[in-house]
Amino acid sequence: MGRLVFPGDADWDEARVGRVFNARRPDRQPAAVLLASTEQDLVDGVRLARERGWRIAVRSGGHSWAAWSVRDDALLIDLGGYREMAYDPETEIVSVTPSVKGGLELRPFLAERGRFFGGGHCPTVGVGGFLLQGGQGYNARGWGWAAEQIAAIDVVTAEGELVRASETENSDLFWAARGAGPGFFGLVTRFHLRTRPFPAAIVETIHVYSFDHFDTVMTWLHGIHATISPDVEIVAVSERGNLVVTGFALTSSAEAGREALAPLETCPVIDKALVRETAVPSSFESHAERQIAANPEGFRYIVDNAWLTGSPAEVTKAINPLFTGLPTERSFVIWFSMAPLRELPDMAFSMQSEIYCATYLVYDDPADDRRLRDWLTARMTELAPVTAGQYLGDSDFTAREMRFMGAAQYARLREIRAVRDPESIFVGYLTGDGEPPRNVNPWEAP
Ligand SMILES: Cc1cc2nc3c(=O)[nH]c(=O)nc-3n(C[C@H](O)[C@H](O)[C@H](O)COP(=O)(O)OP(=O)(O)OC[C@H]3O[C@@H](n4cnc5c(N)ncnc54)[C@H](O)[C@@H]3O)c2cc1C
Repeated sequence: MGRLVFPGDADWDEARVGRVFNARRPDRQPAAVLLASTEQDLVDGVRLARERGWRIAVRSGGHSWAAWSVRDDALLIDLGGYREMAYDPETEIVSVTPSVKGGLELRPFLAERGRFFGGGHCPTVGVGGFLLQGGQGYNARGWGWAAEQIAAIDVVTAEGELVRASETENSDLFWAARGAGPGFFGLVTRFHLRTRPFPAAIVETIHVYSFDHFDTVMTWLHGIHATISPDVEIVAVSERGNLVVTGFALTSSAEAGREALAPLETCPVIDKALVRETAVPSSFESHAERQIAANPEGFRYIVDNAWLTGSPAEVTKAINPLFTGLPTERSFVIWFSMAPLRELPDMAFSMQSEIYCATYLVYDDPADDRRLRDWLTARMTELAPVTAGQYLGDSDFTAREMRFMGAAQYARLREIRAVRDPESIFVGYLTGDGEPPRNVNPWEAP
């Protein structure tokens, strides 16, 4: 059944938090950790937890910023040693275990076969947690949330049974798995994912501006982003004292990429750009290097986010202090276009807006924890007038709770949970007070 590690064992802390990406690690103490390496280990683990009266927490890639996998008194089932990938050329479906890294492992595996799946931007993110919470992968703007590409999942239920879930079998579990994130009440052993052809051409525009032009550039970008080709991922990042605007085009030819990126040349202060690279050849590999440099391992992270809504002038004015006032040199903020908004299929994931904004405070001194958290909470609270809600992927409910799902979807999720996991064997969302999240924006609460 894999190896069980208990408190007091020599490798207890390594098993408990060694695979947690964020160096700001929690003190929470599980009852035991099961290091699983086969599907049967996962079934055995759930059954063991039932026998011993433990609740269950799960870890796939270990990239939850809030270390959701580390829960007091629960059995932590760690899937790190269970890594499999298989591609079926007939159906064009790839089957992967949840700890497989979307960029580092799945992308090259599929590229060799001429196929593509939009895993997380940082190449080391595990597909497990990423897909369960929606999955904002490459070009989510034009190609949709990664969870929309799940054809089926294999799940160990709270009863300890291994079942397949899809639109036609166990469809309640399938519905919930696409968006519940850490509130999911089953253990996914495998994802069956639809793939698309690997993009024939990858070209990129990069413009760097000083903050003197922040309001002009961001008001302009907000005004035009919905009109840009759906094959372009559009991101603005505050990085080391500058504003970087990028368009990453994934197209059928370099010419098509150049055309798709052309609107980015219409910025009213383009002649003031400190760096101006227009439609240059790019690659996922070079992006991966940049992501790893921006998100270095071994650092402490405090992360928060908001779905933004409002006019270009209102939103730009509201985000200016966040972008231009970051408190540590390595910290960064992203403005990620999702416009024009695509209609979502019927699934638990149901909260989005035209602009996603996430802040990553990166630092190394534990003495700064409180000060930096307070700084970020203050900035995010100021954004309330232009905030629609939050995305699970960059959230920590112990610090701040907002709406993360449509109200009807959240009610349905709780109904399904009551049927599928009536004894709450799976730990569910980690909140500050131990109660289920309220799923409301505090300023809208009755
Ligand atoms: C450097 C970095 C870059 C990131 N970039 C992106 C990005 O581009 N887009 C994006 O959308 N997100 C991104 N994220 C957020 C990331 O997707 C989430 O933190 C996600 O939860 C990580 O998945 P994981 O499997 O690695 O994490 P884990 O910490 O292993 O899992 C998180 C939680 O998901 C649940 N879970 C995981 N696997 C299973 C399973 N098999 N069965 C049941 N429940 C499970 C558990 O509740 C678990 O505690 C990034 C995070 C980091 C650290």
